[in-house]
Amino acid sequence: MRLPKLRELMEAIKALIKGPYTSSFPYEPFNPHPNFRGQYQFNQDKCVGCLACEEVCPAKAIAHQDNVDGKPVRTMIHYTDTCIFCGMCEAACISNNEGIKTSGKWELSFFDRKKESFETIQKELQLCEICGEVIGCKEHLLWIAEKIGELAYSSPTLYQTRLQSLGVIDDNIKSALGDRGRSDRVKILCAPCRRKTTLTT
Ligand code: SF4
Ligand code: SF4
Repeated sequence: MRLPKLRELMEAIKALIKGPYTSSFPYEPFNPHPNFRGQYQFNQDKCVGCLACEEVCPAKAIAHQDNVDGKPVRTMIHYTDTCIFCGMCEAACISNNEGIKTSGKWELSFFDRKKESFETIQKELQLCEICGEVIGCKEHLLWIAEKIGELAYSSPTLYQTRLQSLGVIDDNIKSALGDRGRSDRVKILCAPCRRKTTLTT
């Protein structure tokens, strides 16, 4: 007969004295280890909709949908049933690692997978003022403008977004620039339209 190893014997004795390692959940509350990451959650106030987290997520648990009908918005989606709690999203988050964070939540059961297995937040999109293509989220453009400081004044897209957020320019001023021509150069534009207005007007 094969005798148990000393380590296994010690574990068995410890288990006899301390009781089982497993908890009696759901009959009694379960307290996870303080270092347990748990479910990740978006932070509506901190996320700028840049998609860096989607890019790095190894489980493809983060996705987005852009909707340009009506008020243009980007919906950020986190599939909580696919997430493996690896923390790559938080590590890559450009918003001081606060756009998506662990919540410590570990109870992941739900009744309706189609309705409860994901969480979403929405961010306002900035469209090209000529062709209507999505440039990015307004908060992301503002984040870039603030990050590069006065260099943002080399890009009409960035400084116009910044001035709009400060209320310095509004739609009345923009409508005065409605004609195509040199004034197109100071609009918020996608890269192809910026190129066209720079090279052809
Ligand atoms: S914790 Fe990992 S798996 Fe979950 S959303 Fe973040 S990057 Fe994806
Ligand atoms: S700000 Fe952070 S959480 Fe929001 S999309 Fe970018 S990386 Fe993801």
